[in-house]
Amino acid sequence: MLLISCPNCGSRDETEFHYGGQAHVAYPENPNELNDREWAEFLFYRDNTKGAFAERWLHSTGCRQWFNMLRDTVTYDIQAVYPMGTPRPAAAPAAPESGTASLAADSTTTGTAAPSISGTSTSAPSISATGTTASTTAPEGATK
Ligand SMILES: [Zn+2]
Repeated sequence: MLLISCPNCGSRDETEFHYGGQAHVAYPENPNELNDREWAEFLFYRDNTKGAFAERWLHSTGCRQWFNMLRDTVTYDIQAVYPMGTPRPAAAPAAPESGTASLAADSTTTGTAAPSISGTSTSAPSISATGTTASTTAPEGATK
């Protein structure tokens, strides 16, 4: 269970929050100029980072405000909580001590490591929906 420090309310239990996906995914400057593949990548493709990852969270049963959080996806260590619209802080350097988060294979983690997948999106399936054209209206809730 995570203890998440809401910027407005202080430390609260994880169950009061909802995860909102990857942070800092900017709305396209000119969405009408994107082809179907670029639009699909904006909508659906997200990083799958092993390590420090910037993500959005909503304090849904508290102040109902969104905020960003820098969380290590391996150790669940919360490295920073910061307001929406502010740049991502630098990730904390990997802790060299004690070896609990070590990448070295030890007897307790044999066979549990997921394969490493680099963040290229060049192998994305081609999405060519016939008959659809680029929408001239932004999706509801989109920020420009
Ligand atoms: Zn709150």
